This record gives sequence, C-alpha cells and structure tokens, in this order.
Amino acid sequence: MKIGRNDPCWCGSGKKYKSCHLAFDDKLESLKNRGMVIPTRKMIKTPEQIEGIREASKVNTDVLDFITPFVVEGVSTGELDRRIYEYTKSIDAIPACLGYMGYPKSVCISINDVVCHGIPSDDTILKDGDIVNIDCTTKYKGYYGDSSRMFMIGDVDPVWQKLVTDTKQALDIGVEVCKEPWVTIGDIGYAINTFATKQGYQVVREIGGHGVGLEIHEDPYVSHVGRPGTDCVLAPGMVFTIEPMINLGTHEVYQDADDGWTIYTDDGQPSAQWEYTLVMTDHGVEILAH
Ligand SMILES: [Zn+2]
Repeated sequence: MKIGRNDPCWCGSGKKYKSCHLAFDDKLESLKNRGMVIPTRKMIKTPEQIEGIREASKVNTDVLDFITPFVVEGVSTGELDRRIYEYTKSIDAIPACLGYMGYPKSVCISINDVVCHGIPSDDTILKDGDIVNIDCTTKYKGYYGDSSRMFMIGDVDPVWQKLVTDTKQALDIGVEVCKEPWVTIGDIGYAINTFATKQGYQVVREIGGHGVGLEIHEDPYVSHVGRPGTDCVLAPGMVFTIEPMINLGTHEVYQDADDGWTIYTDDGQPSAQWEYTLVMTDHGVEILAH
C-alpha cells in the first residue's frame, strides 16, 4: 500500500511520511532490489517504544548487578532464583521468564556443560571451579530487556576461564560489526564464528539471538554462524539480542527429555554465553541491557 508524502507516517510518530520514514523506505527498497533480506515494519520500533525498552533494559541490567554478589560457592541456584524474583517484584518489574511457555522459574542458570535454559533448583549447588551463566529477562511497564553474564566460581581451570573471556570477546566482536546500520545478521554470525573457530571452539547453531522489546521473543532470528551479506539487514529502529553460545568441544547440543528445557553439550564439555539487548540507530548499535 502506497502512502502519500504528506500522509501520516506508518510508524505512528504522527509526522508526515516525507519527513519521517520515506528516505528509510527508499533505502530498504534499494537494498531489496539488490537481493538483500529486509526487515518487516513490525521489526522497526518507534522512538517511544525504544525509550520503553531502554528503561526495561536498565532494570534488567540492575537485576543482574543485584544478584552478582550472591553468586558464590555453596549457594543453590534455587536461592539465586528466589532472590531475583523478590528483587524484581520489589522494583515493580516482572521476571519475564516465569511462566513463559510453561517455564517454572524466574531466570535461567546454566552451569558448565549446560548451554542454556538451566532450571534453578535447591538441589543444584554452585561449587569451586564452576562456570555459570545467569540469563535474565525483565518486563517493565510493558517492555522487555534481556541480557546474560558469566560468573566463575573459585578456582576455575584456565582453559575454561579462557572460554569465558573469549566468549565475551565474541559478543563484543558481534557488537563491533554493528557500528553502522545496514549491516546484516549474516555479518554478525560470520565475525563471531570466525573468531570462535580460530580459538578452536565451536558455536551453537540451534539457538541464537532474537528481536526483543514488545515481546520476550520476536523476529528476526540472530544466528551466531553466518555468511557475510546474507540474512536480514539491520535497519535503524531494530531491537535485538546478540548472545553467542560457544562450546569448548562440539557444537552439537541436546535438550533434556525429562524437563523439556535444559540444553546440554553433546560431549559434556563446557559452554559459555554472554548476551546484550541492542538497538540499531542511525549511527550504529547502542547497548541497552548488559
Ligand atoms: Zn515514521
């Protein structure tokens, strides 16, 4: 459907189309004509929505900061989950994982060979030498922020330590790719996978990043293994996560058949993950939740 130059813009800003998203649409049209995959309008957030997601992301970052001093040897992941639940409620926010597609807890806590979606439990105690990912999504005033961090407990094997710090570097490399708009998701995946492979690691394929902000999971899917110039173009206004899961051994993973959530490495070797929520702007990506 064609919008007139003086009609209100489709984005809901209230501005005239010609002074809002007309040039943007022309840019996308030209990219499409060159064979690129372009985002749908649903993937483009308004400035008002981005402000809401920014606030939710600040709250999510705050929750991870809050839990950090409690992530120590001897604590159960069930206790960490309860602390996150109580704290999140106390600041008028909602732990978004709780009840999502039947998920039973407020946060995912994944230890060693658990790649992601580890379910907190009073029976799971952090011990010396563990590497731990805490992945938190918070809903605040209707918007979502999503990020995860690694924690190292006590005396961690140097090879595992390097996996943790290299995985953080892989995330930073993905962010660096997005220093200007109109790069593609394939560019991100290519950069991350190239770096990880050089270090001798393998990158998980089945699970990746995603659009986020108005829902907990939105399109597009953000693969951490890609080819340059392929997959969706990242246009200003898109909000998404980069969250590489990098394995010391094989990239192959499997899901726990009993709980239906926990993802393990096939070979029992450790996996690390870091995640940001990001917004693409006219001047490149900005980190919202970390
Ligand atoms: Zn507009």
